[in-house]
Amino acid sequence: MLRLDDFPKNELEFHERFCNEEACRDYLSSVRWPEGFVCPRCGHTEGWRRSNRDEWICAGRSCGKETSLRAGTVLHNSPKPLKAWLMAMLHMSVNKQGISALRLQRLMAFGSYETALRWLRELRRVMAATNESEKLSGEVEVDETFIGKTDEGRRGTVGQFIIIGAVEKRGAGCGRTRLRWIRSRDGDALSGFVEDVVEKGSIVLTDGAGGYKYLGAMGFLHDQMAVTDGHGRQLKTADAKVKSTAHLPQIHRVFSLVGRIVMGAYQGSLSARHLQGYLDEYCFRFNRRHAETPFTICQKIVARTMMSKCMPLWKSRGRTHPDKPTMAQSKEWIKLGSKLVQVGYVG
Ligand SMILES: [Zn+2]
Repeated sequence: MLRLDDFPKNELEFHERFCNEEACRDYLSSVRWPEGFVCPRCGHTEGWRRSNRDEWICAGRSCGKETSLRAGTVLHNSPKPLKAWLMAMLHMSVNKQGISALRLQRLMAFGSYETALRWLRELRRVMAATNESEKLSGEVEVDETFIGKTDEGRRGTVGQFIIIGAVEKRGAGCGRTRLRWIRSRDGDALSGFVEDVVEKGSIVLTDGAGGYKYLGAMGFLHDQMAVTDGHGRQLKTADAKVKSTAHLPQIHRVFSLVGRIVMGAYQGSLSARHLQGYLDEYCFRFNRRHAETPFTICQKIVARTMMSKCMPLWKSRGRTHPDKPTMAQSKEWIKLGSKLVQVGYVG
C-alpha cells in the first residue's frame, strides 16, 4: 500500500529528501519491495545489496539470483542516475499543461532530443496504465472530435486526427474521462471504444451517429440524440451540431480543453506516433484535477514506475536483448512493442 505521507510535499522537501543517489535508492526500493526484498526467481525474502549499486543478490540456498532495482521497469538499463528520473517525473507532474521534449531536454541537459522524447514516451505509458484500471460508470457522454493536422496523409473531414472521448456526467460537472485516437468512425471503432472504457449497464449518451446503434444490444442503456426534428425531417448539419452540444455538454468541454493544450503546449504539431501518449497524459491529469497536488501525482507516477511491469528502455529502443544492437525493422518492433506493453502491465 502506498503511504501518502511518505513523500515530499513541496520542491524544497523534494530536493532535501532525494539529495543523492543513496537516498533515491532507499526510497525506490521501499516502493518496489514495501515488505523488504523479495527474490523474483525463488521468492526468498533475504538478500544483500551491493554497496553503491542498484543491485541485490538473493540469499536463498542454491539461488543467488542477482537482480536490479530497475529490472523490468522503464528504468531498466538506463545509464542515467535515479535522481534524474525522479526529477523528470517531478517536471511532468508540476507542469499542468504537460512538458515538451525540447523543454525537458533543456531542463535535464540531455545530449539529444531523442532521449527526452523517449523518456516522455515511457512516462506517458506509465500514466496510461494508471488510467486504465477502472471503467467509467453512471451517466457517460461519448462523442468524437477532430484535432490538429495529421502527418499521415489526409484523414477525417479536413485531414485532422479523429479523437473519440467519454466522460462521466456528475450533476452539472464531470467525473473521469478517457480519450482514444481512432482511424475511422465506423461501428467497430465507436462501439469498441465504449465497450472498452464504460461499465456495462451504464447510461451512455451519444449523438445520432450510426456507429453507436448497437450499444443497446451490447448491454448499455443507450440515450441517442434524435437526428430528425419534430416533423420527421433530417436535421441540417448546423442544427445537429447545436443540438449535439446541448445533448453532450461535458464531453465538448473536455474536447475544447484538449484542443487548447494541443495548440498551446505542442503548437498544434501532432505526430501520429505520440498522439495517444498526449491523450493518455491529458486524461491522467484531468482525472486528478481536484483531489491531488502535483506532489501526490508525482508519487503515483513513481509508484507505478516501480511496481508495474513496464517495457524496459532497451526494448523501447527496439532491441531484442539489452546487449544486442538495435533491430533494423524497428517499425515492426514498435507494432509488436505496443502489444507487449498492453499485456505486460499488471496491477
Ligand atoms: Zn532467489
